[in-house]
Amino acid sequence: LIADLEEEKEFIWFNPKILSQNDASKSISLNHQDIQDAADRLDRFRPYISKVFPQTVRSYGQIESPIIEIKQIKNALANLTGQKLAGRLFMKADSELPISGSIKARGGIYEVLKFAETIAIREGILDLNDSYAKLDDDEFKKTFARYTILVGSTGNLGLSIGIMGAQLGFKVVVHMSAEAKQWKKELLRSKGVSVVEHEGDYGKAVEEGRNSAAADEYSYFIDDENSKDLFLGYSVAGQRLKTQLEEKNIIVDKEHPLFVYLPCGVGGGPGGVAFGLKECFGDNIHCFFAEPTQSACMFLGMYTSLHDSISVQDFGIANKTCADGLAVGRPSGFVGQLMDLLLSGVYTVTDNNLYRYLTLMKDKEDIELEPSALAGLPGIAHILKNGVNYISKYGLEPHMENATHIMWATGGSMVPQEIRDQDYLTGQRLDLDQ
Ligand SMILES: *Cc1c(COP(=O)(O)O)cnc(C)c1O
Repeated sequence: LIADLEEEKEFIWFNPKILSQNDASKSISLNHQDIQDAADRLDRFRPYISKVFPQTVRSYGQIESPIIEIKQIKNALANLTGQKLAGRLFMKADSELPISGSIKARGGIYEVLKFAETIAIREGILDLNDSYAKLDDDEFKKTFARYTILVGSTGNLGLSIGIMGAQLGFKVVVHMSAEAKQWKKELLRSKGVSVVEHEGDYGKAVEEGRNSAAADEYSYFIDDENSKDLFLGYSVAGQRLKTQLEEKNIIVDKEHPLFVYLPCGVGGGPGGVAFGLKECFGDNIHCFFAEPTQSACMFLGMYTSLHDSISVQDFGIANKTCADGLAVGRPSGFVGQLMDLLLSGVYTVTDNNLYRYLTLMKDKEDIELEPSALAGLPGIAHILKNGVNYISKYGLEPHMENATHIMWATGGSMVPQEIRDQDYLTGQRLDLDQ
């Protein structure tokens, strides 16, 4: 596998350390109550969210995305790979999440809201039983303006925290690597957010953000690598998906397994979602992470058990990928250790294929995504081709016709049309790497 990694070939790894849900939950410090606490907090903010973000009025201030069956692209993928793909394939459209158009609208926004709530309660201007619509009043904005929120980000986390933080009245400083997409920097600046650009990659940007926040009580650093709040914000997705599947009469049980494919950068987003999903579906769900061949950091950390003490750069790999949301060379240690017990495996995808799938998604389903969001698409083909042992270990051979597969489409709706068109044309010129 390390040879495949070094040659930048696609591969899939099945995690030998995974435990049953029962055993795993005994060793994990976070539990169902923590997720419920986050879900309740998000509910308290619904009157505020629907007031200040009109696009959430119809969902009464709930920030959630639809789930869509994608039959046409499933057929196309079967043709491209020459495989028969048993089961149904869905897309969880986090690309359509209101406010910031990516999975970061879950964790990033949640952590900012929690910080705002903590300050407002401490200052005695908010009570848990109030209607939170009042957070839009000047009194609150003036209070929050005394505080600065800092974050290091490859892009989408900065967008979520910048948009939410600025709306509440906080000063927000987003540290970004120089390679982060120009349009994301411009959008943030247009909201009054300070964007600090750094040479070198994202890890360095995070480090500088953390340092500049350390000594100041009015500075709050959102730590993408270690934050439990971010993680729990993402985890609420589990219950939400469970409700959506029930509404669609999609059964998940021993005879109807659920496979979910989550694009992974530093790990908090997919880790939090996977944690929430495992809490809801236990041993009937199989979660896989998807990483670019250039940025397979979570694979590396889990495979070697070295977690955040190892990086793809240690193997001479540059961490250069078109999937900017996944361009992370060193994984979160906190998430990796938790995932040791819960994650079924990790597979990698080349940049060529991400572009190829992006174009296919537009052609077959008329859905436009950013490159990162496509990493989940080939999961179904990887499992059915290379997962024979895994499938038999869980006795799933007779049930694969009944399986539900979900690609978690993590972002795309904020991408400017001009860049979508460029990405589409890039994919049109490419053949699939097999
Ligand atoms: C951030 C991001 C991810 C991965 O989340 P991590 O917490 O970095 O693992 C996936 N897709 C998109 C579009 C993202 O922005």
